[in-house]
Amino acid sequence: MQTVILLTKPALKSVEAAYKGALVQPAPANSLFQAKNNGVTITAYASGKVLFQGKYHEEEAKRFAKLSSVQPKSKKSPSARQITTTENKGKKPRTKLPADFANWGVIGSDEVGAGAYFGPLTTAAVYVPRSKVAELRKLGFADSKTLTDQKIQELAPYILKNLPYHIVNLTPDFYNQKQQSGQNVVAMKALSHNFTHNQVLAKLEGHDQPDAILVDQFVQESSYFRYLNQNQQQLPNVKTYFITKGESEHVAVAAASVLARYVELQTMNELSKEAGMTLPIGAGKEADRKAALLMNQGKNLSHFAKLHFANTKKAEQLR
Ligand code: MN
Repeated sequence: MQTVILLTKPALKSVEAAYKGALVQPAPANSLFQAKNNGVTITAYASGKVLFQGKYHEEEAKRFAKLSSVQPKSKKSPSARQITTTENKGKKPRTKLPADFANWGVIGSDEVGAGAYFGPLTTAAVYVPRSKVAELRKLGFADSKTLTDQKIQELAPYILKNLPYHIVNLTPDFYNQKQQSGQNVVAMKALSHNFTHNQVLAKLEGHDQPDAILVDQFVQESSYFRYLNQNQQQLPNVKTYFITKGESEHVAVAAASVLARYVELQTMNELSKEAGMTLPIGAGKEADRKAALLMNQGKNLSHFAKLHFANTKKAEQLR
């Protein structure tokens, strides 16, 4: 089970750069470099040949197919032909997920709160086994942005009761501390997603093996893995797919979105109680006004809001 692609010297350099942090040291004799990612071993040779070996060799090779002058040759993999046909069109297909993916058993993950001044950055992962996919669809799981708060309150308990999940809720205090110490927000998201995946996988160990992980995409796949590698994070041994609008590709992402929103709403309620005022979701003028009010009352804004947002400066001017 392997895929071979042939690359030019500059293209080999790009591949090596993409695996920075995942490189095997020292590289095996005769090879240019070797990396391990997503359970796939990638070995490059001076001849330009790059070998992808492991369960998800095709998917991994696909990342670099654009650089390749030669169509990927894949053994024992009837779908290798698909890879080359989609890329030859010269335009990106809307979906790069395998056929029938929507019915797979998938750990989906999504985060909320990244664009909101007040409140946490909340990431959730939910595992939906094949046997429950249809049921969740029927219950009306969809992107939390399209659902009312009331619908979120109705749907979330179903997840809590019936499905393996994990939540990472980064409070403003924690978020600000990380952000001020140089951690970028996209890296925080990547680490949160990956952590929830690993936690859900740990819960499943010995019972069930997901077919895949699906991340509601917020950054390029290569950057996602770069952040994880830079922070020495353990990668799950399940193939991870990335796609925007993931909630329409698999109901597990929709479920994760609902759960994350549920926890965000709860946290917002708690913070509002502590603040003694209703804190708005979002980053508009109402957020500026409430922040100015908190400052004037001598409250610690860092406990409630993501300080690096422009709202902080605007609030200072309103005081
Ligand atoms: Mn999302």
